[in-house]
Amino acid sequence: SLQCGIVGLPNVGKSTLFNAISSGKAEAANYPFCTIEPNVGVVTVPDERIDVLTGLINPQKVIPTIIEFVDIAGLVKGASQGAGLGNKFLANIREVDAIVHVVRCFQDENVVHVEGKVDPVFDKEIIDIELQLKDLESVAKKIQRVEKSARTGDARAKADLAILNHYKETLEAGKNARSLTYTAEEREGAIGDLQLLTIKPVIYVANVDESSMISGNEYSEKLRESVKGEGAEVVTLCAAIESQIAEIEDPEEHALFLSEYGLTESGLSRLIKASYALLELITYFTAGVKEVRAWTIRRGWKAPQAAGVIHSDFEKGFIRAEVIKLPDLVQYRNEAGVKEAGKMAVEGKEYIVKDGDIMHFRFNV
Ligand code: GDP
Repeated sequence: SLQCGIVGLPNVGKSTLFNAISSGKAEAANYPFCTIEPNVGVVTVPDERIDVLTGLINPQKVIPTIIEFVDIAGLVKGASQGAGLGNKFLANIREVDAIVHVVRCFQDENVVHVEGKVDPVFDKEIIDIELQLKDLESVAKKIQRVEKSARTGDARAKADLAILNHYKETLEAGKNARSLTYTAEEREGAIGDLQLLTIKPVIYVANVDESSMISGNEYSEKLRESVKGEGAEVVTLCAAIESQIAEIEDPEEHALFLSEYGLTESGLSRLIKASYALLELITYFTAGVKEVRAWTIRRGWKAPQAAGVIHSDFEKGFIRAEVIKLPDLVQYRNEAGVKEAGKMAVEGKEYIVKDGDIMHFRFNV
């Protein structure tokens, strides 16, 4: 499944947020193939549609989609030079699909700030610079290799070199690699093998105190302003309260607690949804009396590739897909009703699966 790495300076609230994540109610038993390590928290992706489906079908089993969050603690100033457990943590970041960057936006005299004062933009830049320095190292090494081929007149190498140099200048200017807008094809030859850290999609979490949970505060505003150019999302929450919310299992009590704080949704739920959207993930469903299940795919995937998420045989032997839309299922009550009304679509190999599709794959074995 997909992994988001939680990074940030010490004492900004990473562990508190991570605790909220790992005390969530993801039923690990449903996911026998994911190895759960102590620094990995699994959460289900909140999705109202699966509740609607469950209400209609009343299946024996319901399996929502999950995201994993990895606590990558220990990133400090100088990490790229090996300070702290620098290199180990940077290697951990290389493996995740996206970064959740927690920034301290709360005042608390009892909580030491490693840099002396609360300054979210400065804090964010400390982390960014460490990641940029590491990326610069990777880019410089690659440039050395490509320069040789470029000198022999290789056109491909020349084009790659130009792009590599652009990344180098960008990183040297203190900007993240994600701020460049090359297409995937253009990037592939130049940096495709480098797994740059600052090119990974990022969400900033402004960890504010309880009183600023809804409105945010001057710190979270400054942070939001500073990341505008990156097109990154900022999720404002209070990690301390989130960890309390996550403890409450009873749904009614949960809702009551939220409403007492004037919230309709937990910050964690917003963070999970934002992560899902950031990764351009969408969900399709399979729905039967035995099991209603949500499956994660990337936006733009065609039907056979989407089927491959269930089993590789589904992809190899793909014949066609029967597709139902949830509103039709709600209107006509069941599959037979949808079919009778002529609302069930039969789609082939080229069909691009849409978010929320209810799919039934037909395949050869
Ligand atoms: P980490 O080092 O980034 O993992 O930070 P921790 O999660 O351990 O938090 C550091 C300290 O800040 C702890 O004493 C937390 O209780 C406190 N803390 C975390 N989140 C908040 C918050 O939202 N408000 C306040 N006032 N304190 C917080």
